[in-house]
Amino acid sequence: MKETIANHAYDYLERIGNLVRMGARRVPPVNGIQPVQLEALHYLSSCNRYSNTPLAVAEYLGLTKGTVSQTLSVLEANGLIEKIPDGKDRRVVRLVLTPTGEALLAEAIPPRVLALAMGELTEQASQEIVAALQGLLQAMQKANQLKSFGVCGTCRHHRLEADGSRWCGLTLEALQPSDAEKICREHTAPDEALDAPP
Ligand code: SF4
Repeated sequence: MKETIANHAYDYLERIGNLVRMGARRVPPVNGIQPVQLEALHYLSSCNRYSNTPLAVAEYLGLTKGTVSQTLSVLEANGLIEKIPDGKDRRVVRLVLTPTGEALLAEAIPPRVLALAMGELTEQASQEIVAALQGLLQAMQKANQLKSFGVCGTCRHHRLEADGSRWCGLTLEALQPSDAEKICREHTAPDEALDAPP
């Protein structure tokens, strides 16, 4: 029975995934951009300063370093991202969206077809769908022992002081309020075992 439900879930997720990717690529400036390139661009727009490296992109997308390297080279050649040496460790490259990359992403995501479909649902139905998808994602990440890449504000290391200041209990660095909304490769859910500091 559970396998049958998993089959149904797969069918729906695959079809929805195809429609979402097609919808994102229908935007004129996005034509010619491959889905994986758009996914890498979207990840880099959502991640925090600890997570904007080629290795983190590879981990997030579940791709080899070689494939990600090619993807990032295309994005850079098209003026959508910049590679910037890390301020502390010059061997580390940080990837940052250019204004052109940000504008392209704003046109493509969320795809119009998804926004229109969600707009047809009640507020409660939309929230239930998002919550169910979040639960499924977390269960799959746990089953595969993958990094959660969760939102910083939900991490067990996130510290919010009485005066409103924030800091990371893992890196011991200050965080800005906007950091709380970003995703992080070091994110640890409150019920996960603690990792060793990087
Ligand atoms: S609090 Fe957690 S998610 Fe936020 S920066 Fe630190 S390790 Fe990353």
